Amino acid sequence: MPFALAIHGGAGTMRQTDISAEQEATLLAGLGQALDAGLAVLTAGGSALDAVTVSVCALEDNPLFNAGRGAVFNAAGQVELEAAVMDGRERRAGSVTGVQRVRNPVLLARRVMEATPHVTLGFAAADAFAEQQGLPLADASYFHTQERWDALQSELARQRAGGTDADVSEQIKHGTVGAVALDIHGCLAAATSTGGRTAKMAGRIGDTPVIGAGTWADDLVAVSGTGHGESFIRCAAAHEVASRVRYIGQPLGDACDEIVFGQLVEIGGSGGLIAVDWEGHVAMPFNSEGMYRAAVDAWGNRSIAIYR
Ligand code: ASP
Repeated sequence: MPFALAIHGGAGTMRQTDISAEQEATLLAGLGQALDAGLAVLTAGGSALDAVTVSVCALEDNPLFNAGRGAVFNAAGQVELEAAVMDGRERRAGSVTGVQRVRNPVLLARRVMEATPHVTLGFAAADAFAEQQGLPLADASYFHTQERWDALQSELARQRAGGTDADVSEQIKHGTVGAVALDIHGCLAAATSTGGRTAKMAGRIGDTPVIGAGTWADDLVAVSGTGHGESFIRCAAAHEVASRVRYIGQPLGDACDEIVFGQLVEIGGSGGLIAVDWEGHVAMPFNSEGMYRAAVDAWGNRSIAIYR
């Protein structure tokens, strides 16, 4: 049986002219490393669930991406991290929102799935659960990166000057990491993790932990999204991809295009998604300038890219 894996590190306005050759090399290396971590699991016969978990952990540990260590700040100058996992075999799912002390929110989401009767846990109680489960914790300084702090200050200044959401640089607002995989046993899984959007209201919940919006996996398709979370929720974006494949037999790429270039665009939602199907096809469309992404499909085609 073939396997396939795709990862993303967020979508947004990444113009080649804004990113130095050195930054680009570092970003591509980070993507390659996260991809290889998941591939090592799959080539050893491991599960899609384990593969997406390790790939997302690698991206969470990398300060360049908006998740875990490199998470953006909310309007109160704090991180509120969100993550989700879904195991397509039995449609088991777990997610967390508003956590502030967990090093790898994706591990906590998985613990919610595996060790509680619930799907979603939030805020201080979710942090307390992480502590009780013995997951690695971190204090606020671990999540403090100068670049994210500066982005918050300039976004707050822009808002004070009367700027609207429409004219903000999508790169400042955006980011999320995710992975989708098919394993040699024919199982699919998805995982997503994010700091959300810079200067979001404290307590805001985005699409990442909403199962069916930013994250979905069943026996046919696994999907992880990145972009304007409110739009992904209003489109039930990830689940909509799966429904199109299941009920009208659309090829994966067409189903993803309908959502990314159709439904999301219709409501002004920018972003993209990665998806894999039961045969190992991979789709990674985005309607923004770029999306950090990497994949190996069932036929061994490997790609790592940022721009269109
Ligand atoms: N979807 C994330 C959110 O809205 C952000 C992003 O992917 O850019 O929280």
